[in-house]
Amino acid sequence: MEIKKGIKVSPGFAISTAFVLDSEEFRIRQRFVRDDGADAEVERFEKAVVEAAKEIKLIQEQINEQAGSEYVPIFEAHLKMLKDKSMHDEVKSRILHNKFTAEYAISRVLRRFIKHFRGIDDNYFSQRFQDIQDIEKRLMRFLLGEKREALNTLRHAVVLIARDLTPSQVATLNTDHVVGLATDAGGPTSHSSIMARALGIPAVFGLETITADISGGDKVIIDGNTGMVIVSPDVDTLKRYEDLAKGYHAFEDKLKKLKNLPAKTTDGVKIRLLANIELPGELEAVKNTGAEGIGLFRSEFLYMDKQQKSREETESEIYSRIAKEMGNAPVVVRTFDLGADKFFEGVEKPLEKNPFLGQRSIRLCFDELDMFKSQLRSILRASAFGNVRVLFPMISCLEEVKRVKLILSDVMEELEEDRIPFNKNIQTGIMIEVPSAALIIDLLVKEVDFFNIGTNDLIQYTVAVDRQNERIAELYQPAHPAVLRLLKNIAKTCARFEKDVCLCGEMSATPEYVILLLGLGFRTLSATPGSLPSVKKIIRSISMKEAQAIAKKALTFDNARETVNYLMERTRKIVPETF
Ligand code: PEP
Ligand code: MG
Repeated sequence: MEIKKGIKVSPGFAISTAFVLDSEEFRIRQRFVRDDGADAEVERFEKAVVEAAKEIKLIQEQINEQAGSEYVPIFEAHLKMLKDKSMHDEVKSRILHNKFTAEYAISRVLRRFIKHFRGIDDNYFSQRFQDIQDIEKRLMRFLLGEKREALNTLRHAVVLIARDLTPSQVATLNTDHVVGLATDAGGPTSHSSIMARALGIPAVFGLETITADISGGDKVIIDGNTGMVIVSPDVDTLKRYEDLAKGYHAFEDKLKKLKNLPAKTTDGVKIRLLANIELPGELEAVKNTGAEGIGLFRSEFLYMDKQQKSREETESEIYSRIAKEMGNAPVVVRTFDLGADKFFEGVEKPLEKNPFLGQRSIRLCFDELDMFKSQLRSILRASAFGNVRVLFPMISCLEEVKRVKLILSDVMEELEEDRIPFNKNIQTGIMIEVPSAALIIDLLVKEVDFFNIGTNDLIQYTVAVDRQNERIAELYQPAHPAVLRLLKNIAKTCARFEKDVCLCGEMSATPEYVILLLGLGFRTLSATPGSLPSVKKIIRSISMKEAQAIAKKALTFDNARETVNYLMERTRKIVPETF
């Protein structure tokens, strides 16, 4: 028996035999064409694009049927990339001027894009490289006449083991036959992992060597809840996992029934549950979980859509549509939280030695005022259609809030001059995700209508541990006494000033921290739609009195390990099914 640890990307258990997918590298045998062959090569390229587009449309229909319309935009983006004019111009220019074959030209152009995305020092953006890889593979298949993967011919249930999986490979999997996924590459925010979650396939990615460690036909267990893969399990382990899987399915069925029940503790304290989204297409999932609104719309995905002539128009349309669909429910739009300057194309910026402490997020927006103002215009325009609120990320001092408010009122004046309707009393909030902001919360309270607590960043900046660095992941401790003290102070101050505060970091989706957060005084939590049912289940299983006692005790430990053990043990007792 061998146990491998990877990144959990889609929850649940799968127990079956391994099917190892051969890596799908294409061999480009001929790189150049004769002078008189270039036009024919351009034609081959254009034909491949048409065929690839047809195939993507079929995948869109399939995923729409299998997982819902919220996942369709991912393939909409593939179609857009496939038809991108600058990509076409570049490929054609290489064929016509460099006399490259169509496949070599595509490979050169798309691999440059892939390299660019992979190099971005931001998990979300860096993982978009898979989408381009997907398009490259599709085009190559048409050009080189490769056969479709053996996957479609599967006749029995397997756990699929692969070096990497593209979003469309996952989207077209037959879920009757592929019951689990494990890959060498990949991470939790890639579109492939979003697809795995959408289809409900338990998955562990980022295992680095799993394709080498496993042979086809081996018995394998995928534990998507903890990110473990067990190869050739012994009899006891197998039995334990069979029982776990049975219990988990029963728990999932129970959670579905919670949708319309209130998120109330057993002694009647109402908790507001909101959803975090990244794609406008996630709206349906939000409604399906019974969330009371959108607590965090990470707008960065829209920034990628820079092909648009007018981003303001597109963004405004998207925000307005969401606002209308959500009715009176709040829709909190966070302004661009762009990681580092690397993907900030078209503007020359000096390379920074330490981008996480550099000109990122709101600091970048101050420097790119036109871009920032145009986003504020689109958010304000949408505020005419619903309960839209605006949220500013990475605030570290009072002056920044004042500056942001001045810019916002400038934009409001411009809209008034242009006679464009908007909500003049739009609620304004800031992310508290830098310790300096957390420590002056009593000063910031006077400047804004609400706070969103971003524990993902607050933890990394408090304990000085990069949230994406696997080598020091052990030191990234949500339960570090320093973090808990900051959270307690925030909750207490907000209660004193009766200020709206929502906790929207991953902590609010993590079972062992939900009770702690309630006990510390948080009454609004925002998390990914998929995690909301189990958060609600925990809330409905405990009294506020108990939660407060647990939080009080949790604050007495002098280290994170003991605190987590204590919280796990208590949560397990109260809601055993969550683990
Ligand atoms: C956070 O930092 O906790 C947060 C919610 O924002 P993001 O994960 O997008 O940085
Ligand atoms: Mg953050």
